[in-house]
Amino acid sequence: MNADLERIIGLQRLDTAAETARKKLADEPEREKTLDTRLETAKANVATAKERLAANQSARREIEKELAVHQGRLSKFREQAMAVKTNQEYHAIQHEIAHAQAQIKTHEDHMLDGMLEADDLTAAVKKAEADLAAEVKAVEADRKALTAEHAELQVALERITAERSAIVAALDKHLLAVFEQVAKKRHGVAVAEAKDGICTICHVRLRPQVFNTVRRNEDIVQCDSCQRILYFAAAPAARSTGSDASPQAAS
Ligand SMILES: [Zn+2]
Repeated sequence: MNADLERIIGLQRLDTAAETARKKLADEPEREKTLDTRLETAKANVATAKERLAANQSARREIEKELAVHQGRLSKFREQAMAVKTNQEYHAIQHEIAHAQAQIKTHEDHMLDGMLEADDLTAAVKKAEADLAAEVKAVEADRKALTAEHAELQVALERITAERSAIVAALDKHLLAVFEQVAKKRHGVAVAEAKDGICTICHVRLRPQVFNTVRRNEDIVQCDSCQRILYFAAAPAARSTGSDASPQAAS
């Protein structure tokens, strides 16, 4: 393979890797924010569960107070019932007693419902707290991984910069200018593999003699359509079939 073509392919590989690394670095604040949100959500779930339990407890205290009031009335009416003089008074007090008993029954039923609900709400608080503890651990691990990845990306970028400088120093200056011009126009991708007679990036079919030249990897050929510098990746499988037996240096 043409040495400059090999350098150009290497340069593209480095630029693509650098671009990927820079994108990952740029995504870090967003990923940090996602981790913060996960913790906040888990904490909010605990707070909500505790609020529900507290609301249940105060509701039950209210029921208890009212229950005491109705029980007080009931015993008062029962005392009064002992002292009634007339039939009319007797019926009136019996009516009050029945009413107080009905109220007590209603409040006791509410109390029972509230207690059953309290069991569920207590379990929900425990579950939310366990979820929070698990999330704290998971987020901590993800933060560590993010920090480690950040360091790796920095190291990779430094290595890429050094390798790039070495390639640039050895590369034909005119070719470097072509590479950079195309890269600028084509979102950082100035090199394309030619395969089955087409440019694999812009998908335009190459003229047969152009593709044949590209196949040899000896000349710098640009795609007519996208201007990217073309190369041919020899298939790893045997290519003994075919009449064109031009000698090719195995990479
Ligand atoms: Zn093309």
